[in-house]
Amino acid sequence: MTGNSHFGKIVSSRCIIALASPPVPCVPICAWNPFNLTSEQVGLMSRASASLERKGAQKAMLKEKASEHAADLAMGLTSTMKKLIAGDSLICITCRATVLGNGCGPGKCECSGGRTKPSDDYDPKEALLNAAMSREKVRKDAVKGASAANQVVVAADKEKKKAGRGLDDLADLDLSSVDMVEIVFEAGKLGMALEKHAVSSVADGGAAAALKVKAGWVIRKVNDDDMPPDKAIIMKHAAAAMKAGSMTITFQQPLEDGKHHCIGCDKFIDAAQFDGAKNDLGAGPGRQTCCSCEEFADFCG
Ligand SMILES: [Zn+2]
Ligand SMILES: [Zn+2]
Repeated sequence: MTGNSHFGKIVSSRCIIALASPPVPCVPICAWNPFNLTSEQVGLMSRASASLERKGAQKAMLKEKASEHAADLAMGLTSTMKKLIAGDSLICITCRATVLGNGCGPGKCECSGGRTKPSDDYDPKEALLNAAMSREKVRKDAVKGASAANQVVVAADKEKKKAGRGLDDLADLDLSSVDMVEIVFEAGKLGMALEKHAVSSVADGGAAAALKVKAGWVIRKVNDDDMPPDKAIIMKHAAAAMKAGSMTITFQQPLEDGKHHCIGCDKFIDAAQFDGAKNDLGAGPGRQTCCSCEEFADFCG
């Protein structure tokens, strides 16, 4: 037996002994429990190291998250945009169509060769973000457009109100551009003569003259009641209104000089249209009839 072989043998036999001998608590665990700790202490230690490990992993994860967040912000992926892309998904990585689309309706792959599906490890973030940004722009433009349209409506409304006020002022100051004139009469004589519903003459110094009523005007309303071309009915309404305390007569006046009321068609028309008629302008308001009305009456009568 050489020393070598003996040594070797001893070694091997020792190993065999060590392994074959009945378990001695400290021998098999020496390698990893050099301080001979109890199992309870070992458990505590392993839990502590596990928690350390967890903490380390958490730290690394947070660090990764922080850098990811910074990268997201750098590309414009704010928390608002994240919410906007949350319900979206990428349809095609070539044309980058997404389900929610770019603001012009739902997205659709327009690739001639057909869609290229994103693989499982493809990060669609940027494509989704671009789509969401387009959608946001379309939405904001629409809001802007709506508010601009609203402003136009408001402005038009203001103009209308202004024009309405102007109209009232004109009724007081200048009658030339308004064909309906409301005039309030006080109790007493009207100071005008009627033929049917037309003012045939205005008495000098009377109420009508003072109120600037002109011969040739036509009565359309007494207070709120529409008047027919009938002097008796108009006078009856006028008397009742005066008794009640207030009478407003709405007259229609010709908007231009040279226009006269025709009792046939009940319109203000050019003086020339009366030339040659049997009841021409010489017949006076409430009697004068334009040629076409006269022809029509002859034809029918
Ligand atoms: Zn496509
Ligand atoms: Zn006529």
